[in-house]
Amino acid sequence: MYRGAAIRTSVMKKRSRKEIILIALGGNALIKKGEKGTAEEQFRNLKTPISQIARLSKDYKIIITHGNGPQVGNLLLQQECCTSVPKLPLEILVAQTQGQIGYMIESTLDSELMALGADAQKPLVSLISYVVVDEKDPAFLKPSKPIGPVYRKEEISTLPYPTIKTEKGYRRVVASPRPITIVEKKEIISLVENGFIVICCGGGGIPVIRYGRTFSGVDAVIDKDLSSAKLAEEVGADIFIIATDVEGVALRYGKPDQEFLRTINTQEAMEYLSDGYFPPGSMGPKIEAAIAFLEKGGKRAFITSIRSIEAAVKGLTGTEIISSNSIQ
Ligand code: ADP
Ligand code: MG
Repeated sequence: MYRGAAIRTSVMKKRSRKEIILIALGGNALIKKGEKGTAEEQFRNLKTPISQIARLSKDYKIIITHGNGPQVGNLLLQQECCTSVPKLPLEILVAQTQGQIGYMIESTLDSELMALGADAQKPLVSLISYVVVDEKDPAFLKPSKPIGPVYRKEEISTLPYPTIKTEKGYRRVVASPRPITIVEKKEIISLVENGFIVICCGGGGIPVIRYGRTFSGVDAVIDKDLSSAKLAEEVGADIFIIATDVEGVALRYGKPDQEFLRTINTQEAMEYLSDGYFPPGSMGPKIEAAIAFLEKGGKRAFITSIRSIEAAVKGLTGTEIISSNSIQ
């Protein structure tokens, strides 16, 4: 039996009836296009996904993960603007974003649960999470993860760091190694089984390299969709929802003949991925994450808008990725 299945079986034995939904919230969905990323904007934007998650928590056990691309990039800029205090390495900035976004999600969720009444109350926890990466990962030699603000082409020659062109414009790029395992997976399982809603793996987790029994942080940002898929596998989640700022997955995205997909099987998804329909650093890792989750025995995977989380769970909108093995 492969490892994911072994963990899944042992988790299922211990599990009570409610299914686990793992919802991955995009960092870009918290700061919308054209916004500066003020605290007010992020709190306002969070109400949309979090009010839905509060309602879903009646029927499902919930794990929330989140991105941090814009937020960690802003922290980098803040420390580059202030030279009189020591600069902190990227892994500590990732930890900071787990704290700041975890706090915003947790307090918003608390208010939304309160609004649903006394019966809806649940214990909440935001967990600082480490994710193990391989120090020999070739990603360290080829940075691919866009973070921070969007720049115009004319601005990039003045920047002191490398940038890449994304669909939204030019952005700073850092190494993005693959997640190997989530260090706190046992704690997360235990919290979820005890009724907690857990916010964890923020920004893809703090990237660490394991040396025997100790960990050491590294300068990188792990893709949160890939970490979320790894976490979903390791805790035995049933449903995996990747919530972002588009309604679903499209072919020829952004072109006049773009076509949104309601369902796509893992075999087709892999083919489109290798044909370049889903770019690395945005839709590519979401598709890869959904495929990985289903291949490790996950039941349902969706890519949808933060506005449509509940509708996607009901199968009414978004893109559902379906395991090719389950198609007769
Ligand atoms: P998040 O912060 O949610 O991870 P990303 O920017 O990483 O957001 O990924 C979502 C973006 O992917 C969308 O805003 C869209 O611009 C882009 N995208 C690229 N290719 C596609 C595609 N084929 N279908 C839908 N969206 C796509
Ligand atoms: Mg992303």
